[in-house]
Amino acid sequence: MSRIGGAPADSGRADSWDRTAEVRAAAAEPEPYPVVELERVSKTYPGDVRALREVSLRIETGELCAIVGPSGSGKSTMLNLIGTLDRPSEGTVRIDGFDVAKLKDKQLSALRAGRIGFVFQSFHLAVGQPVLDNVADGLLYSGMRGPERRTRAARALDRVGLSHRLDHLPNELSGGERQRVAVARAIVGEPSVLLADEPTGNLDSVSGTGVMALLHELHDAGTTIVVITHDQDIARSLPRQVAMHDGEVVA
Ligand code: ADP
Repeated sequence: MSRIGGAPADSGRADSWDRTAEVRAAAAEPEPYPVVELERVSKTYPGDVRALREVSLRIETGELCAIVGPSGSGKSTMLNLIGTLDRPSEGTVRIDGFDVAKLKDKQLSALRAGRIGFVFQSFHLAVGQPVLDNVADGLLYSGMRGPERRTRAARALDRVGLSHRLDHLPNELSGGERQRVAVARAIVGEPSVLLADEPTGNLDSVSGTGVMALLHELHDAGTTIVVITHDQDIARSLPRQVAMHDGEVVA
């Protein structure tokens, strides 16, 4: 696990990164903090574009949640804030209880690398690298050595049903298989939350159904997953839907 050192004393976290993980592993009690917590978060882009307006949201450990809404409703902005790729104009974003605004850039990078897994519509795989290396790269910032990274990558690929494709290049795979590789890379570091941005957007319906089934399997095994989608059918197939409209959560 990456280490960000002690959380700032005023962030509400007294424990260091590693200690938190130990305490959590040992404790039979419920999680003290939601994985994701947005408190009255607003985001205003230059030109006074108000993309998010005082959004509050909690996502607990083990949830499988859709953030759904039409184009322009603020979903990508929400994804960027939850993924700590951007900072809010107002309000508070907490990941595993860490207030993102109170972390230095290095700490934020460590939090992102260790606790957030990303899956994108367009897969984002390195085309010249075999599948195994693509997934092992998900552990580049973990401090693990190459052999350990590859062992874990092989295990993650087994979880997504691709243990027979380790040496293939991405362009030798179907779209559905490429997205499975991307999911393996996102989960290889056992993040606190998997953020999937329109994960079936580039897939035919059969492959898309397969990728959604995979997300359900991971959820059944305990992974916390947030799916960003404009597709009402996909959203309805998930246990929880957060509906966005004009930068607000409407349901
Ligand atoms: P969605 O993902 O639901 O399509 P977005 O979060 O991308 O919605 O966009 C919400 C609003 O913010 C839209 O009006 C969009 O045009 C605007 N927007 C998004 N990104 C930027 C940006 N970088 N600069 C200015 N406006 C932006």
